[in-house]
Amino acid sequence: MEKIKQHVSPKKQFEDALDQPKHPVLQPPYLFKMLETVFGGMSSSSLSTKNVNRTTNTVTDYVDLKKLPEFGLLNKQVSAVVEESSWWDRYGVDMLIHVVAAISWLGSHCLLAFQHPVVFWLGIIVMGCSHSTINLKAAHMAVHDAACSSREWNRFWTFIFSDYWGTFSADVSNSIHIKVHHPHTNIIGLGDSSTWKAPFLPRFCHFFIAPLLLPVLTPVVALKELLEGEPLWKTARHMLIAYSGLAVHLYLLTYVSGLGIGGAFLAIFLSRNVLAVPYIHVNIFQHIGLPMYSQKHRPKKIYQMTTGVLNLPRNIVLDYCFGHSIISCHTEHHLFPRLSDNMCLKVKPMVRQFCLDRGLPYHEDTYTSRMLHFLKNYNSLMVDAPPITKFVGLQ
Ligand SMILES: [Zn+2]
Repeated sequence: MEKIKQHVSPKKQFEDALDQPKHPVLQPPYLFKMLETVFGGMSSSSLSTKNVNRTTNTVTDYVDLKKLPEFGLLNKQVSAVVEESSWWDRYGVDMLIHVVAAISWLGSHCLLAFQHPVVFWLGIIVMGCSHSTINLKAAHMAVHDAACSSREWNRFWTFIFSDYWGTFSADVSNSIHIKVHHPHTNIIGLGDSSTWKAPFLPRFCHFFIAPLLLPVLTPVVALKELLEGEPLWKTARHMLIAYSGLAVHLYLLTYVSGLGIGGAFLAIFLSRNVLAVPYIHVNIFQHIGLPMYSQKHRPKKIYQMTTGVLNLPRNIVLDYCFGHSIISCHTEHHLFPRLSDNMCLKVKPMVRQFCLDRGLPYHEDTYTSRMLHFLKNYNSLMVDAPPITKFVGLQ
């Protein structure tokens, strides 16, 4: 007897799925388990239906485009808030935080001059936290043109915050973070998330030991990326700015703190490691484990950012050392990358409500929950290739 292969259109599959109280494809428990692993326990909304194919390691996400809200709608609401906000809200609050961090960083050299171990270690912690505020938070704002209103001044400050203070290249940040990671968030082979991938390491070493190499790896990675992808004069410029910054830091540590040259290098290594472990964790938690799209089947921006980005709760240390846009407002930051940290925090309730009202995902999880999730599912999240999500928009 001849078999008749019936072609069912994606739209029909989607409608059938909505008609049924339970999608039959999603019934076997292992698929639930896999979805839970892939999406971190986050369920799909009425806007979309996901079809998991374990053999091909793909998730087909059927999304009803009629229900998918336009980004322009949210953009209009957020732009209205930005326009009616004062300069203080838009830039002033963050500028004050950056100035306080710079003063604290200078002051920490005096604390290191004390012989008492408690004061010395307090100095290392203050130096590490204030360095992160400048090198991570302020540099991140400046590279997004969000540290102040002038594009030229933002460009100037990226070299100060990143090259001079952080021994990392602003040109590399611009190439990797602005031109690739942001527009191509969670697109396989492009902005596919964490820069920290060492799947050959055991899980505890990967999460808690290897990040301590960050202060040594940072300048090496900057040089490697510059030499491979940028003209030689940019490498020369980076080396001039970065190593004069490092020389000034060594000078302060030897003449103000009274350390020998070896002690000065050790102080730099220790202080830059104060927040290295949470920095790597946050970097991983924000995107990995969420849908990763193939380049051929990438979703619209609003869906790409709301499905592929996760917010952590507010944390007094991380908020000021990494910035709201990296911790509790990462979704807002990916939707509106030119907003300062303080403005991301201001528009967050509006963005969150917009997503929840329209059935868009709005991923939130605690640091501890993410940590346990990654330690438990280390192989599927960090070692194996992630399942590829194909976005299918249905008109
Ligand atoms: Zn960014």
